[in-house]
Amino acid sequence: MHTDTNISLQPFHFFASEEQAKYFTVIKNKEDVTDAIEWCHEQNLPLLILGSGSNVLFTQNYPGLVAKMEINGIKKINESATEVVLEVGAGENWHHFVSYCVHKGWGGLENLSLIPGTVGASPIQNIGAYGVEVHECIQQITAFDTVSKEWVQLSKQACKFGYRTSLFKEYTHRYIITQVQFVLQKQPQLKTDYGAIRDMLHEKGIKHPNLESVSNAIVQIRTQKLPDPKILGNAGSFFKNPAVSKSQYEHLQEQFPTIIAYPISDDSYKIAAGWLLESCGWKGIKKGNVGCYEKQALVIVSYGIRSGKEVFDFSEEIIHSVANKFKVALEREVNIY
Ligand code: FAD
Ligand code: NAP
Repeated sequence: MHTDTNISLQPFHFFASEEQAKYFTVIKNKEDVTDAIEWCHEQNLPLLILGSGSNVLFTQNYPGLVAKMEINGIKKINESATEVVLEVGAGENWHHFVSYCVHKGWGGLENLSLIPGTVGASPIQNIGAYGVEVHECIQQITAFDTVSKEWVQLSKQACKFGYRTSLFKEYTHRYIITQVQFVLQKQPQLKTDYGAIRDMLHEKGIKHPNLESVSNAIVQIRTQKLPDPKILGNAGSFFKNPAVSKSQYEHLQEQFPTIIAYPISDDSYKIAAGWLLESCGWKGIKKGNVGCYEKQALVIVSYGIRSGKEVFDFSEEIIHSVANKFKVALEREVNIY
């Protein structure tokens, strides 16, 4: 196995801070996965799998092996009159894969257009946007289980998908995902309930949307609202929308009538974390080399950080201010190393 030593991680993650990996390698096939695990075991070093680095923050040099996932390929493994099943390599670019499905007329993932990242990372936090979560289209996952030391096929149920969470968040770094199987629909049911999608389709004069127009609308909304990571380093929403009980939500609503929240079950609500930050005055605030994006407070942006610690410290301040004002605990969505 080829490894590079003391490699700057700057080109490999979206915050682009200057931490280094002690060792670095690239994974092109399943054999590379087992080689990397064996190598780390022999050296007694930790292993970190990296996709495109759009959801990580490095706050220190990584003391082990960083392995960049580059297993590619899109393979049709089944097709019926209504569905198609695809097996996709973990290193495939997420948006390219979504565009491929949209182009073929296969529905299910169009609302997840333009989310950065790789296919293999999509189940980790069960990526979601505009009312769709990736688990809705996942059938099975191939992964190496570093505890039992064997290849496993995980069914959708075994993956324990939840709101921005999964088995892979519960057992961090236990599973190395190499392939994901998706089921796509040939007669797709479009989901255009989110206000922003409806408004954009209306603005464009589209009365009868299809896969392509929904995907294009989302690309346009996201391009307008989110910072370009190549210009302002960021990892998307830095915090999760906190879930609270119905009674806690009702109490908050009495105190803060403009609060934005949505039910997630009969007795729980998710509060829009962006609204919490905005209400604490964070939107557009810049401190040193870090700030909250001017169009969406939930996105912490870098104005040229050298260390991810700068972002981490800034996020601590935000957590404290939200806890003080609302008695709500914010949890980071971004993976911290
Ligand atoms: P990385 O950042 O490289 O890794 C993320 C985590 O997954 C790490 O812990 C890593 O170790 C682990 N991992 C990666 N690949 C594997 C693998 N093959 N096997 C095992 N573990 C692995 N997320 C949403 O849910 N919805 C959004 O709408 C959204 N919008 C975003 C917008 C912007 C501008 C940005 C920058 C981010 C956004 N995100 C969003 C977050 C991010 O795009 C997703 O979490 C994405 O799936 C991360 O993919 P990645 O390949 O970059 O993962
Ligand atoms: P938004 O439309 O301003 O909405 C704010 C919050 O309210 C969102 O977090 C969303 O929850 C919730 N919401 C809005 N309409 C809803 C509805 N009809 N039903 C249920 N919940 C609703 O959000 P935004 O910041 O512009 O983002 C748009 C979408 O892209 C969201 O789905 C968001 O999750 C996703 N996004 C995610 C990231 C990330 O890094 N995770 C980054 C950018 C955008 P949900 O978040 O649960 O959808």
